[in-house]
Amino acid sequence: MNDITSLSLQRAIQGLRKGDFSCQELVRAYVNRIQSLDSAIHAFLFTDLEGALKKADSVDHVLVKWRRSPQNDLPPLFGIPLAVKDVLCVKGMPCTCGSKILEGYVPPYNATAVQKLIDAGVIILGKTNTDEFAMGSSTENSAYGVTRNPWNLDRVPGGSSGGSAAAVAARLSPVALGTDTGGSVRQPASFCGVSGIKPTYGRVSRYGLVAYGSSLDVVGVLARDVDEVALVFQVMAGVDPRDATTVDLDVPQITLGERSELGSIRIGVPKEYFIPGMQPQVEEAVRRAILHLQGLGAEIHEISLPHTEYALPVYYLIAPAEASANLARYDGIRYGPRISGETMWDIFYQTRGQKFGAEVKRRIMLGTYALSAGYYDAYYGKAQMVRTLIKRDFEQALEIVDMIAAPIAPTTAFPIGEHTDDPLAMYLEDVFTLPANLAGVPGLAFPVGFDQQGLPIGMQLMGRYFQEELLFRIAHAYQLTTDWHLRTP
Ligand code: GLN
Repeated sequence: MNDITSLSLQRAIQGLRKGDFSCQELVRAYVNRIQSLDSAIHAFLFTDLEGALKKADSVDHVLVKWRRSPQNDLPPLFGIPLAVKDVLCVKGMPCTCGSKILEGYVPPYNATAVQKLIDAGVIILGKTNTDEFAMGSSTENSAYGVTRNPWNLDRVPGGSSGGSAAAVAARLSPVALGTDTGGSVRQPASFCGVSGIKPTYGRVSRYGLVAYGSSLDVVGVLARDVDEVALVFQVMAGVDPRDATTVDLDVPQITLGERSELGSIRIGVPKEYFIPGMQPQVEEAVRRAILHLQGLGAEIHEISLPHTEYALPVYYLIAPAEASANLARYDGIRYGPRISGETMWDIFYQTRGQKFGAEVKRRIMLGTYALSAGYYDAYYGKAQMVRTLIKRDFEQALEIVDMIAAPIAPTTAFPIGEHTDDPLAMYLEDVFTLPANLAGVPGLAFPVGFDQQGLPIGMQLMGRYFQEELLFRIAHAYQLTTDWHLRTP
């Protein structure tokens, strides 16, 4: 048999049901790849491979019985391996958020998104690497070492869900969960040549997701193609009584089929997303992909999102402000390690001083400053107003067009170390992803080419609130008629 890790999720599900292979064989194939490849890539911070194989065994017992009398339905993802970004709680597995301040913390409960997937039958392989508390665009801010890009081990995989993107690209897991506060699903998907959804804010529960910027955070999915992403997305989406920001709307059953004509879809291309200084091959690949969509029947319109240039400063006020409040809970008393001291304040100072990394400290200071008395109105208050303008840009544009197509990052994966001494250069990598988070709209990333160095290039479709399904349909039509998503490192 060919390597079963090259099967699509849908085929793996069918294969298990038909008995083409056992769940043990499927999980073993991924375990073997993790054991032989992850020492070079470092996608995982923690694995439970023994546990995964044991679960596979019990899945096989159920499958054997089910094949004899397949009366009741099996859960939709029965026996499918999954990797989880290390900012989401998985009961019994360490959750470090890539930080020393949570070293050794083992949550006693599952995040809602994780629980829904467990109920749907997934087998969790382990936790993937991330920039500390998801603050970064390269995984270089992880306290546990960088993840390497499977296409070129000297390059970053993007971030902050770089471990998840690298795991999918290297076929260490068929699918992985990520989170997207300012681009952390889409940008690593783009850098690693995989597909990924940043759902509408409020579509997926944040319960059990360690908070970074609470008004921006959303849990997403990465897989090789958008059909697979859609399958997992629809299982974990939906209202949750434990997260009051989730919205009680039906989650559509997404079946994408084999049709590749787009009908009368209007796609807007914002002129602000093609800027001087961006890598020419990125612009070329994205423009070519847009022409391809036109070839499939889409109407293409040039549009304007006039406040785009403010997204970066607005985000880098709002996200650190929220982070400075959210991270106040790590005090050496309640979670993780404690550096002892004479007084309570000593414990706080020592633990926070020694266990938070440089980028996290920078953001806490930026955020605390922006929220402090006397500066609040000038910084945080102003940023919230401009955020409303950015949101309106999207709402107005999406009355004229059905969705927006744009690049994800100005460059392909950059060399490890290139931006580590220059936080501003790192923040600039996020210019095209931050606006969707500030507006709360969904964004879907998928591969549309390679640069001259053989590094993947991605593109994003951004749509109306809660219309993820339409994004999936259009990207799926693209993938039915192209093969970028089938290439492997
Ligand atoms: N790169 C952005 C940041 O550093 C976005 C991170 C994210 O989406 N978690 O904040």
